[in-house]
Amino acid sequence: MSAIDTLPPLREVIASHQLSARKSLGQNFLLDLNLTAKIARQAGDLSQCDVLEIGPGPGGLTRGLLSEGARRVLAVEKDTRCIPALQEIAAAYPGRLDILNGDALEIDPLAHLTPPIRVAANLPYNIGTELLVRWLTPSDWPPFWQSLTLMFQREVAERIVAQPGSKAYGRLAILAQWRAEARIVLSLPPGAFTPPPKVSSAVVHLTALPAPRYPADAKVLSRVVAAAFNQRRKMLRAALKGVSPDIEDRLLAAGIKPTERAEQVSLEAFCSLARQISEA
Ligand code: SAM
Repeated sequence: MSAIDTLPPLREVIASHQLSARKSLGQNFLLDLNLTAKIARQAGDLSQCDVLEIGPGPGGLTRGLLSEGARRVLAVEKDTRCIPALQEIAAAYPGRLDILNGDALEIDPLAHLTPPIRVAANLPYNIGTELLVRWLTPSDWPPFWQSLTLMFQREVAERIVAQPGSKAYGRLAILAQWRAEARIVLSLPPGAFTPPPKVSSAVVHLTALPAPRYPADAKVLSRVVAAAFNQRRKMLRAALKGVSPDIEDRLLAAGIKPTERAEQVSLEAFCSLARQISEA
């Protein structure tokens, strides 16, 4: 009998530990262990990696990560009520699960984990984008993580993988695709969760590239992209007026028409514009 078979079904865990879902903590649990194992497999080979899991809740995905062979999992959970349920899982997998009762926004992963590190999580929706942006914008690249396998609302997942010319294309797509490869690997209907959220969800897998796809200064690129998409309906010469005094020349030098809108501009062209602005 494998370790996972010694653990009670998640519905029983939730009932015995009285883990009624709290909306304020973004709690929509995955109770199907076949599904959580499938999500864990999307994270790649875990046997040589430490895995950071944010928001394990009653531990459905945690079980998946461990049964799929993760070398070690650090599970960071804010809700103290979940800790005893997670301790039962830790006992079934001696030495492989560490539990941190705290806020994911406040931890330093490298203080607890040994590289290579993969991140896997069914994220609380209220902090999902904030965590992703943080993981995509460290001061040094490559980042602490080798890959991120993350559940998002479908609409956010589409923004991460969006291409120019689509409504979903914006800052998140540029940040994600500049230094990582991002794909949607799984789509889930609301009914996959307990309680079901209002919208569909999707799992995005991001792999960190060793270096950016195109050279650019991270801060300048970030400033340009934020300004361009903050006023996405305006022509770039107007939207970027505050970024550089001779923005029309900079745009032309980067091969971008000043009358173009942010939505039409490729990642490569934004990087070229960031270089033009840095050199000015
Ligand atoms: N991973 C579990 C699953 O798939 O069933 C639960 C996912 S649920 C969408 C999000 C989890 O994140 C909840 O357990 C919630 O308590 C936890 N959470 C919310 N805010 C958090 C924070 N700031 N830091 C750590 N965990 C948090």
